[in-house]
Amino acid sequence: MLAVYNTLTRQKEAFVPLNPENVRMYVCGMTVYDYCHLGHARVMVVFDMIARWLRQSGYPLTYVRNITDIDDKIIARAAENGESIGALTARFIQAMNEDADALGVLRPDIEPKATEHVAQMIAMIEKLIANGKAYAAANGDVYYAVREFPAYGQLSGKSLDDLRAGERVEVDGFKRDPLDFVLWKAAKPSEADFWDSPWGKGRPGWHIECSAMGEELFGDTFDIHGGGADLQFPHHENEIAQSVGALGHSCGHDHGGKTIDSHVKYWLHNGFIRVDGEKMSKSLGNFFTIRDVLKEYDPEVVRFFILRAHYRSPLNYSDAHLDDAKGALTRLYTALKNTAPAAFDVHENANDYTRRFYAAMNDDFGTVEAVAVLFELANEVNKSNSAELAGCLKALGGVMGLLQREPQAFLQGAAAADGLSNEAIDALIAERQAARAAKNWAESDRIRDVLTAENIILEDGAGGTTWRRG
Ligand SMILES: [Zn+2]
Repeated sequence: MLAVYNTLTRQKEAFVPLNPENVRMYVCGMTVYDYCHLGHARVMVVFDMIARWLRQSGYPLTYVRNITDIDDKIIARAAENGESIGALTARFIQAMNEDADALGVLRPDIEPKATEHVAQMIAMIEKLIANGKAYAAANGDVYYAVREFPAYGQLSGKSLDDLRAGERVEVDGFKRDPLDFVLWKAAKPSEADFWDSPWGKGRPGWHIECSAMGEELFGDTFDIHGGGADLQFPHHENEIAQSVGALGHSCGHDHGGKTIDSHVKYWLHNGFIRVDGEKMSKSLGNFFTIRDVLKEYDPEVVRFFILRAHYRSPLNYSDAHLDDAKGALTRLYTALKNTAPAAFDVHENANDYTRRFYAAMNDDFGTVEAVAVLFELANEVNKSNSAELAGCLKALGGVMGLLQREPQAFLQGAAAADGLSNEAIDALIAERQAARAAKNWAESDRIRDVLTAENIILEDGAGGTTWRRG
């Protein structure tokens, strides 16, 4: 039985889908104006792991991850580059997909774009105005009237009074309350090509897109809403206010025995990535793009680095942590190289390892303990050379999107730009064999030194010499 930590109720709850025939999960995706960084990698990999586990558990899942392709930063970047918004976003959607593919992230079932759902957003804003939750201001903007939604702040645990006390002096005189947030932004005179609306030309605010697309794809209510922890406030708080406000009545769910209004049953948030103790973020400038990290590290090492931490914990990023993840993944692949895995059908009660793996994953996606089971299996495989246990190791790794390559291909790695190619290494090893056969020890040692200098590790075994990059 799966239990998940629900940010809304701040407790672990049994996962009971609204409709077990159709489990629905919506995750806030990327704003596509630049390359994805490691924080984005974590969101993609974590919710890919969660989607895989829900499916492994037998739930038919529809997984939606949206694409924000209209936004202030996108408009500014396109103007800066002298290119159209469409050209800019198409380029970075492709880059995002390349990064996701490299990390073994399966594509979500639906990737709705904000620009293709503006009509639904306008319809929802009209509903909010009709329900007394929103108002059109004199400047052509439309705002959500936060004081009309008393449950505001319940997801992030903030009260309206606390929020007001923390609010800086409001310079925008068009809002009725400093906490009100924008649903529709009037176009500036310089912005010609935006959307027509009942309030004049303009474009949607960011928050409304997820409410509108969630409703369009899933209806009034759905099971799981996910995203990074930084989205709890204000983005997800605003989403609840919009979706429940448009609904016009209480959501009617039992949220762990608490009286909370939310259109979503379970809110899941992954933790931050930290660099030197600080949160990795664009604004602090301490972020690393996925493609920069992948120049130095195998993408499966990056995936493993993310998954061997619990998804809600902060994740410390450094080269030392990635090197450690690489060494650990190398140990798992080495076990599979030395003992060929037999076919293995994963189910909970296949053996004691699968039972413990399931127990770990069913406890709020406990990948830390699940990875520990993989290492116990690897140790046992190394001792016993059991093809069945090797098969179990490979299959359980596969549930997390790991360990599916030929072990030798992972262990040998990719050649660095200035390093020896695989073919050159094979040729040197063949020359070394010939030198040894001719008892030319000096030549054999010389070749070994060349390979050592290139950080190639030779392993002489019964079946000949194999190698890997260190
Ligand atoms: Zn969102």
